[in-house]
Amino acid sequence: MIDTILALNVGSSSLKFALFSVAGDGWPSLLLRGGVEELATSPRLEMRGADGTPLEDVVWEGSRDIDAILPPLLSAIETKVKDARLVAVGHRVVHGGHDMSEPQLVTADLLAVLDGLVPLAPLHEAQNISPIRTLSRLRPEFAQVACFDTAFHGTMPQLATRLALPRDYEAAGVRRYGFHGLSYEYISRRLEEVSPPLSKGRVIAAHLGNGASLCALLNGRSIETTMGFSALDGLVMGTRPGTLDPGVLLHLLQQKGMTVAQVEDLLYRRSGLLGVSGNMASDMRVLLASTHAHAREAIDLFVYRCACQIGSLATALNGLDGIVFTAGIGEHSPVIRKSVCERLQWLGVTIDEDANSSNAPLISTKASSVEVRIVPTDEEAMIAYHTRARLQDLQAAPSNTIKNAPLP
Ligand code: ADP
Repeated sequence: MIDTILALNVGSSSLKFALFSVAGDGWPSLLLRGGVEELATSPRLEMRGADGTPLEDVVWEGSRDIDAILPPLLSAIETKVKDARLVAVGHRVVHGGHDMSEPQLVTADLLAVLDGLVPLAPLHEAQNISPIRTLSRLRPEFAQVACFDTAFHGTMPQLATRLALPRDYEAAGVRRYGFHGLSYEYISRRLEEVSPPLSKGRVIAAHLGNGASLCALLNGRSIETTMGFSALDGLVMGTRPGTLDPGVLLHLLQQKGMTVAQVEDLLYRRSGLLGVSGNMASDMRVLLASTHAHAREAIDLFVYRCACQIGSLATALNGLDGIVFTAGIGEHSPVIRKSVCERLQWLGVTIDEDANSSNAPLISTKASSVEVRIVPTDEEAMIAYHTRARLQDLQAAPSNTIKNAPLP
């Protein structure tokens, strides 16, 4: 019987999961992974083994929220892995606020703190917390660990976290936090394995997926990032605009009479690639396949803003030794990587066409003064890594050092 950890990565309309064996040191070893899409309509569960072998592909009738999905999901996972015992669940939690620089074992005290952070990430935090509560009722024997997307950016200098607002606002939590931290932490650790010199250098990691951001890594630690107070800031994304003059919001609210809910919908669901392409698609693959001028413009804006913001982060780093592309677009789109890198020639970036076209791990030329790499990210592995570490702490800790017992 082997002990296993489930990593849960819950999004607004889908969830990703992966099951790992707890045995051994280093990275937890993957047993299976999958996702549930289309929660709001007809949830579809797909599951693959560690080698990619399909294990499950089933559609459940009728919409279900995350909490209603958990029982059939757990039973689907548990029936696929024989001789295994699920002992812990690690969760991606978008906001850890000011104080959470490390993943935390879930306790009643922690949940109370996370409830207080809901106003800082109204669309995501409650959604992340809800499955934790549901699981603590359904399966009280599981230890649960919350892994925060903000935590990795706890090393940003205070200057980088500041918004130029009156000081009282910062004291009330209105500051820059940064997100995609689990992805950047994974990249930082993988760089130690694939390019030790770069892991000690000045690197910009570009997480280009539906959500997109950049992180400036100095000696493996975050010193600047493009998302700030919320996950709306920075790069052009699938449906979010990225950096936006706040005067636009005043204009929409005051002159156009839009409600706050309409503005929220515009910013989170109707902008970015989707909006600029004229509602054609938020999916980069669809836009790249189109010959329509609006699709072209959406891609050009995505690339232009990405290159400009790489220039900005290179200034924060005081130079640049490496660029790492990751996530759906970063890992799989030679065209986008090439277009971004062409705009960075002034920084000494040159890429090898063949290596780039074949998605090779190293895509810069020998002559390039900046090493350019592709490193596939794995947020679920990072969640499992931290969850195992917290379990080990728990086992090592004398019982009286645990301030508040794990739930329930
Ligand atoms: P999420 O933020 O939802 O985790 P992903 O990291 O999976 O997103 O990235 C999704 C994006 O990656 C989509 O825009 C998709 O079109 C894009 N993508 C995936 N594969 C390719 C590809 N081969 N070429 C271009 N874009 C791709």
